[in-house]
Amino acid sequence: MPVDYHIHTKMCGHASGEMEEYVASARQKGLREIGFADHIPMYFLPPAKRDDSIAMKEEELDTYVGRVREIQEKYYPFPIKLGMEADFVPGMENELKAVLKRHDLDYILGSVHYLDGWGFDNPAQRDGYDRWDLYELYRRYFSTVQKAAASGIFDSLAHPDLIKKFGIRPEGDITEIYEDTVREIAAAGVCIEVNTSGLRVPAGEIYPNTGFLQLCHKYRVPVTLGSDAHLPQQVGAGFKEAVDILKSVGYTKVVTFTGKNKNYYQI
Ligand code: ZN
Ligand code: FE
Ligand code: FE
Ligand code: ZN
Repeated sequence: MPVDYHIHTKMCGHASGEMEEYVASARQKGLREIGFADHIPMYFLPPAKRDDSIAMKEEELDTYVGRVREIQEKYYPFPIKLGMEADFVPGMENELKAVLKRHDLDYILGSVHYLDGWGFDNPAQRDGYDRWDLYELYRRYFSTVQKAAASGIFDSLAHPDLIKKFGIRPEGDITEIYEDTVREIAAAGVCIEVNTSGLRVPAGEIYPNTGFLQLCHKYRVPVTLGSDAHLPQQVGAGFKEAVDILKSVGYTKVVTFTGKNKNYYQI
């Protein structure tokens, strides 16, 4: 079993279990390495508008880093990496960089969860899809992913086609949107994440879609692997399927990071 680089903690307000339980679950499943990548504070909103059930509070960021450091020592030599999941919001790059530079991180996952303030992956805001022509929506979402890639801020782009979360998809062929996006990602030199949480939502398939992943392989985009666990038992969930898909499109390795430097783990 390979590595799980997308694990949350209860600090984000919507995950449960102790960090020790996530580690125990990983070891029990035979994972070789893990990384915590919890949601950083909602830096893109004024403090009064931030929601504690979506991301950790500003003052919890140092606590989060301290807790991961403790856990690293406690389980040494089992490798546990320090990551963060950071929202990409166009125009707020400097604010984001200021938050991220406060700590020495192994890696940063970049996520697009908002389009003009609409939290499109939030079940409570699902009716927002009704306001869009779906092809236009997908174009808009993937152009934001392209900007996230080009920003140079991230090591891997988390759940790269998250817009499909509720299974709401345009009817026509969107290969051209995928290919434009993957070309931009390859040019930026950023990884993409194969994220198995898509199996647990209405989309019913891993992020990204296999067609998207084939293009990633064609353009030589490296991949990281993550479960997006919000419960200890979700660590490594769906990894057999993920590895099968990765191998079927030609991947033989996934990326790990130590202080932002890439290593490769044979799958
Ligand atoms: Zn979360
Ligand atoms: Fe996310
Ligand atoms: Fe996540
Ligand atoms: Zn996520």
